[in-house]
Order: sequence, then structure tokens, then C-alpha cells
Amino acid sequence: MKQINHFIDGVSVAATSGRTSPVFNPATGEKTAALGLASVDDVDAAVAAARTAFDSWRRESVAARTKLMFRFRNLVEANVDELARTLTAEHGKVLSDAAGEVGRGLENIEFACGIAELLKGSYNEGASSGVNVYTIRQPLGVVAGITPFNFPAMVPLWTIPNAIAAGNTYVLKPSERDPSAPLLLAELFHEAGFPKGVLNVLQGDKVAVDRLLEHPDIQAVSFVGSTPVAKYVYETGTRNGKRVQALAGAKNHMVVLPDAELDVAADAAVSAAFGSAGERCMAVSVLVTVGDIADPLLDAIGDRMSRLVVGDGTNPDSEMGPLVTAEHRGRVADYIAQGASAGASVLVDGRDKDFNSNGYFLAPTLIDHVTTDMSVYTDEIFGPVLSVVRTDSYDEAVQLIRDNRWGNGAAIFTRDGGAARAFQDDVEAGMVGINVPIPVPVGYHSFGGWNDSLFGDTSMYGPEGVRFFTRPKVVTSRWPDPADSSVDLGFPRGA
Ligand code: NAD
Repeated sequence: MKQINHFIDGVSVAATSGRTSPVFNPATGEKTAALGLASVDDVDAAVAAARTAFDSWRRESVAARTKLMFRFRNLVEANVDELARTLTAEHGKVLSDAAGEVGRGLENIEFACGIAELLKGSYNEGASSGVNVYTIRQPLGVVAGITPFNFPAMVPLWTIPNAIAAGNTYVLKPSERDPSAPLLLAELFHEAGFPKGVLNVLQGDKVAVDRLLEHPDIQAVSFVGSTPVAKYVYETGTRNGKRVQALAGAKNHMVVLPDAELDVAADAAVSAAFGSAGERCMAVSVLVTVGDIADPLLDAIGDRMSRLVVGDGTNPDSEMGPLVTAEHRGRVADYIAQGASAGASVLVDGRDKDFNSNGYFLAPTLIDHVTTDMSVYTDEIFGPVLSVVRTDSYDEAVQLIRDNRWGNGAAIFTRDGGAARAFQDDVEAGMVGINVPIPVPVGYHSFGGWNDSLFGDTSMYGPEGVRFFTRPKVVTSRWPDPADSSVDLGFPRGA
């Protein structure tokens, strides 16, 4: 059985805890590897390697740091296919989607290649007589990333490039479910020429997370995962004096106004609800119909769903793969049962399809007449289940989103520019799509939700990411003529 190790100080290191976690191929149900889980000592070793590396890494010029980042970018691009195969083998998403994930991660590396622009700081000449004042931004030290299973390559790349290009060193704790893609990224990173210890990968579970959250040499924590764990990481990390950004769960609504282009809206809803088997934090999980578009729209969606090809992600014909684990598949199927028994209409029931496989497949599901008290509405299901809430007006639709506890993404489909403009103003969500169902920002904007979708003050990647991984230092300087020097006990004032 393949063993999966840590990557610490530039080498593969076995876990010392004696504890392991199985890794499965979700398309076959086969156990493919045993993942060694970190002990507290392993965490300390990874942080110590990063701490040692920081002293020299932070003194490298921006030019030297970004030159290596360019090389890393090229290596990731050259290895897209291998990364995609690795992702599919442990996550289950189809190969084209896996390659797309790597492509979005590449955007974040490319952004960090130009980090010099955002590290410029600012300068005031003559702030007082003979006095110049300037602000510089410096790295924090050792930072940690804790990432979820659903984007094992892209989400680590949301933070690693900016953090390291800014001069920090990094300890990544990826998900236990699909650890091989982040490990491959770390190997490519090392191959690009980054010094050992600058990026370390620690395999582990709550033991590792808890030690990272209390370790005195960890300055900042970037977390992405479910809402309860995000809240816990935010509260524990900040209590221990760390800078924390914790991106959390979601329930993303797509509003379709009566004037929307029906086919465009149907295509978008199906793509955004069932792509990657709904295991995307920006997936559309609630379709909000306004007025009489509901019936024709659901017919068009049902028609498209009947043609979706669900199967092993390595098969080029598959459009949707399995869910990540047997347990998660069971949980999603249970939500469908809860929706039915609460009185919703299960128009298309994914449980009906027999895949004749040991994989964790569940076909796409469409549930109509969902109300806001049902668990299919209140909970994040994170599977291929689209719940439909029918409303009578735009105001009712927007209020629904306001009353929802999350606020990651929200989309509107309409041909009315005024309605779209109003939606952009009114809606309570961090990322808004206008005729775009999954509005994940490009790498030079920043990603982050509102309300229970993000704990902390800064979004991830892009300009906000650079601010998160640096701190300002303000320098006030004067080069006085000794002839004019005198004692003055007054408080310094501008003059
Ligand atoms: P998860 O919360 O179970 O795990 C995330 C990370 O936290 C993993 O590294 C895991 O090992 C660790 N962890 C799990 N339980 C822990 C505990 N009790 N104490 C300490 N650490 C713990 O999330 P997941 O199932 O891997 O990922 C899916 C979730 O991530 C969904 O809720 C999804 O919405 C969310 N997500 C959010 C975003 C976003 O940008 N807002 C992006 C991707 C995923």
C-alpha cells in the first residue's frame, strides 16, 4: 500500500504519530494509499524548518523571489495533466474540470509574479521640515494554510504564491481526503529552485490544526473549509494572537427573473449546480425563480439533466464524477430523503440511478417547492442537489438571500440592466454574478464571502491577499545638520 508522507525542509518525511488515514479512489471505492497523520512533534519540525528558512528568505530581493515564482508557474503549467490525473484519482472530479482547477490556480501564481507592484509602499517627501515619511510592507514570518478537499490544488494556490513572494515561509496542511496533488505542487515548487523549508506540507487532522493554531512561531493562518471548523479556527487562532482569515461554507442562490433568457439560465443552473458534483463552495445550490418562469425553466433544466453523463472522471465522456467519500455520498442521499419527507417535490431523484459500481456516485437531483424551513434549504449539502424556491417578486427573492446565514456568491439572470444594477447593490453576498452563475473573481481581484461564509477581515488572493501576508512599517527619517541640533522636550509636531 502506498504511503503518503509530509514534505518538510525539502524532503519527504514519514509521520511519527503511528496514526494513518485511508485515501480512496472515489470512482472505484478502492483504498489507494495510507496517509501518515502528523504528531505535535511533526508540526513542530515543519514550523522549525519554515522558521529557519524565513531568516534568509525574507532577505532575498523581490526580483529573486519572483524569478523563482515564474519558474514555478512554468512547471505547474507543464504538469497540468499529471496534476489533473492526481486530482481526479483522489477527489473524483472529471479530468477536464481538474485541469480547469489547476488553470485557476495558475492565475494566482501569475499574480504573485507581479507582487513588486503591491509591495511598493508609499512615500511622503517633506512631511515636516527636512523630514520624509514612508510606509513599507514587510512579511509576517511563518504562515500556515489549512485547506479543504474540494479544490486540493487551487485553494492552496490561493495563498501560497502571495505569501511566499511577499517573503513569508509556509506550512500547508491539506485535506486528508486528497493529499497527493498538494504534495506534487510542493515537489514542483522545490524543483523550481525555492530554498528548502520555504514551503512545507504537513499531512494531518485536528491534531495538526490545533498545534498550528497555538504554535508561537505561526504568525498567520489562512483557512478554507466548512463553517463550524472555520469559526473554530478563527476563534482559536485569534485568541492565540494570530492573524486569521477563515473562508467557510455557503448556500449560493441563483435568481432567475421572468425576463431572463430561458436557455441561458437553464444551461447556467445545470452547469453551476452539478459541475464537480456540487462540491464547490461557489456551486449554485438554490435556484430562486421569480414569477411564471418557474415551470418552463424547470422543464428546460430537467431536460438537460436527463442528458448529463455521470461516471468515472477519467472517462472523457463523463461530465460529472462521484462524490468524495462513501460517507459524504450517504449524507447527501439522506438530505434528499429529508426534503421528500418534509413535503418538497423531488422532480429528479439522483438516488434512483444504479451505477453498478463500488464508487460513490449519486446522479443529479432537482427538488422543487422547497421552503426555507427545510434542511435541504437551511444546510449546506455540498452535493449534486439543486433546491428550487419559487417566489413572486424580485424583492422576495432578494430578501430570501438576505435572510440566509451565508453570503458567498449570488447570481441574477435577467435582461433588465436596471434590475441587475439593483441586485448588485441590494444583495448580501461577497461575490455577485450578473448572468454569470459562478462568479469566482479573477486572480487580480480577491475572493471572499460575507456573513457566515468568511470569518476575519480580509478576502483571499489578489490585492487583499498581499495585504493579509504583509504588515506595514512607517519610517520617519531626517538627516539633520549637526550645527542645527538642540535638545527639545516638546512633543514632535509638523512644521
Ligand atoms: P472541513 O471543514 O471538513 O475541512 C477543512 C480543513 O479543516 C481540512 O484540512 C481538515 O483536515 C480540517 N479540519 C476538519 N475538521 C477539523 C476540526 N474539527 N478541527 C480542526 N481542523 C479540522 O471542510 P471540507 O469538507 O474539506 O471542505 C468542504 C467545505 O469547505 C464546504 O463547507 C465548502 O463550502 C467549504 N469551502 C469554502 C470555500 C470558500 O472559499 N468559502 C472554498 C472551498 C471550500
